[in-house]
Amino acid sequence: MRRPLIAGNWKMHTTYEQALELARAIQARCGMAEYAEVVLIPPFPWIVPLSRQLNGSSISLGAQTCSAFDEGAYTGEVSAKMVAPFCRYVIVGHSERRRLFGETDAVVAAKLRAVLRNGLQPILCVGETLEERESGATRDIVERQIAAACSDLESGQVARLVIAYEPVWAIGTGRPATSADAELVASWIRAWFRERFGSGISEGLRILYGGSVTAANAADFLAVGDIDGALVGGASLDAREFCSIVEAAV
Ligand code: 13P
Repeated sequence: MRRPLIAGNWKMHTTYEQALELARAIQARCGMAEYAEVVLIPPFPWIVPLSRQLNGSSISLGAQTCSAFDEGAYTGEVSAKMVAPFCRYVIVGHSERRRLFGETDAVVAAKLRAVLRNGLQPILCVGETLEERESGATRDIVERQIAAACSDLESGQVARLVIAYEPVWAIGTGRPATSADAELVASWIRAWFRERFGSGISEGLRILYGGSVTAANAADFLAVGDIDGALVGGASLDAREFCSIVEAAV
């Protein structure tokens, strides 16, 4: 069925030496895991050296964001086209990009298309703030974010998507969602795709949970039928902890 995907989002952490060492340690501990797909998502400058270091390994790489454009006079931007030879995935719509860097639903949609256009797989992040949750708006918010990014995609494009449900209040707080909460939202996400693209597509779609995932709680999330993996932040910076999360996917 759906192969679990465990992705480590390193955010803006690691020096060059730390990045090489972290990837080496992860490869040594869980680079042979066949039951799960392991993806490392380092800062841009480490993508090329890590792709060399991981050459021949089953671990793949992702980028944390990308430009909506492929090339041109866009100072400071990095395009999906540039990372395509080295990566399989690109995160789009992470709440830190939306909140701290002003990425709107329209920008996220444009970036998602850039990722698809360049043959990569988007990991589309969606999730509500605490205020939105407390006002009962979680389903509306998540569906609005998905609709804005995915409504006019073709089935073949949707089949390449990964959705990460990351409640904003759970990110970096040490307060994860309960697995029951995550299960409910994941079921809404799958239902949204089933209604628009049919059950063949929706049943193949991988939905990840992200937000304070650790070795101690990963198994709870991964036991949920509609949750197919984890997008891990802080805990992905420790090889032992990250590989324990990978092992929870057995
Ligand atoms: P934490 O695991 O540090 O809460 O971060 C989650 C996240 O934002 C992954 O993209």
